[in-house]
Amino acid sequence: MAWEAVIGLECHVQLKTRSKMFCGCANTFGAEPNANVCPVCLGLPGALPSTNRAAIAQALLLGTALDCRVREESVFARKHYFYPDMPKNYQISQYDRPLCEGGELPIVVDGVRQRVSLTRIHCEEDAGKSFHPERHGDRRLSRVDFNRAGVPLLELVTEPVLASPGACAAFLTALRRLVRWLEISGGDMEKGQLRCDANVSLRPAGARTLGTKTELKNLNTIKGVERGVAAEIARQAEILDAGGRVTQATLLYDAERDRLALMRTKEQAHDYRYFPEPDLPVLRVSEAQRSAIRAAIPELPWEREARFRDALHLPAYDAAVLTESRELSDYLEACAPEGQKKLASNWVMTEVLRWTNERGVSVAEWSARVPAARFRDFLARVAARELPGPIAKQVFGWLAEEPGSVAELLDRHGVKVASGEATLRPLVRAVLEEHAAVVAQVLAGEERPFGFLVGQVMKKSGGQAVPQEVQRLLREELAARARS
Ligand SMILES: [Zn+2]
Repeated sequence: MAWEAVIGLECHVQLKTRSKMFCGCANTFGAEPNANVCPVCLGLPGALPSTNRAAIAQALLLGTALDCRVREESVFARKHYFYPDMPKNYQISQYDRPLCEGGELPIVVDGVRQRVSLTRIHCEEDAGKSFHPERHGDRRLSRVDFNRAGVPLLELVTEPVLASPGACAAFLTALRRLVRWLEISGGDMEKGQLRCDANVSLRPAGARTLGTKTELKNLNTIKGVERGVAAEIARQAEILDAGGRVTQATLLYDAERDRLALMRTKEQAHDYRYFPEPDLPVLRVSEAQRSAIRAAIPELPWEREARFRDALHLPAYDAAVLTESRELSDYLEACAPEGQKKLASNWVMTEVLRWTNERGVSVAEWSARVPAARFRDFLARVAARELPGPIAKQVFGWLAEEPGSVAELLDRHGVKVASGEATLRPLVRAVLEEHAAVVAQVLAGEERPFGFLVGQVMKKSGGQAVPQEVQRLLREELAARARS
């Protein structure tokens, strides 16, 4: 039978705030273990949490960008479970009254645009980190680092509307782009700044009711999400094809071995005994706050992508690549001479991105060396055909390594560019005089000898003329001869 997959994602986004969610401890990655802790995030008796307003502002920014409904009053709740890396034995989260509900994230799957409906976004705190077991002499020890305990997290839950592993990857890629664009998270899955669990179920193709779902955890990379979900779809299809039934369960995906392992079944599922957090007041978001957030929303990545495509007429592929980061798309806009967006896009897409990729550096590194205004000057000269292809490539290389304007770079390297009619026309005329027989062939309608004439003029210019310019002048001179 043909099965159709129904997938919902549960994503966690670690926020880029200075301090933790409910205390003043620093929110930094890579500090000495247990350096960033205090009575609140260690859950010591009598310590009282207070809400980090910056984290709430970031949550509101994301919720507003995704067009969610923001609750005027939302409530923090205790979610109880025991785990050594969680000192309070409960996590402060949100339950029945989350900060944001609804909303959608636009994605592109195999060239098809789709809007993924969201269920909710709520605020919570992260747990610490366990390291276990490690050998110390003849003992095996587990150790816990509480630096991460209390770090602000957003949980974003989608409706079960994704239909393929590729759609899951597209969703995460789009979410990562957005949180980086809004500067609320590093979005790095390998550092745990963006995490994802997937709920997967199958149903007969075309059916309306949902099948039994399983939950997939431990998806640490976008590739891992794609492969883990694909493996789970295959596993469920095999069970269903054999006439069996899928059991509700939580599975761990082992990316290295591309294998799924059972973590717990429904019978062992948690009862979290949620109740409202008595130590925190109701979280109120005023209309003034909401309109301030709406005013602070920048042009969003998919809006800019659409503008690049529709208003600037860049190919869809270029528009997607150039809006992968806000930095890159800002750079493109700033460096493109008037009416030369496509030319700028070509140079940025090929040469600039090649330069950064080869060195494994960010666009920021490139733009520190070649500020947009300097690159704009270079592109304007390319657009005016003042720099022939090979020379333009050379100048590009010098731009990143040396100071100075394009003119200064050409001077410094002793490169003379033969451009402009005054220089070229005499060369063109000389070539036509020298090759009267070839000229006759061209005038008789043969196209091939024309290339020979272009080559001769280029040779006379020492390879420094711009071929398009040479062709234009040759055509002009030939036309004049045809008339006489
Ligand atoms: Zn603390």
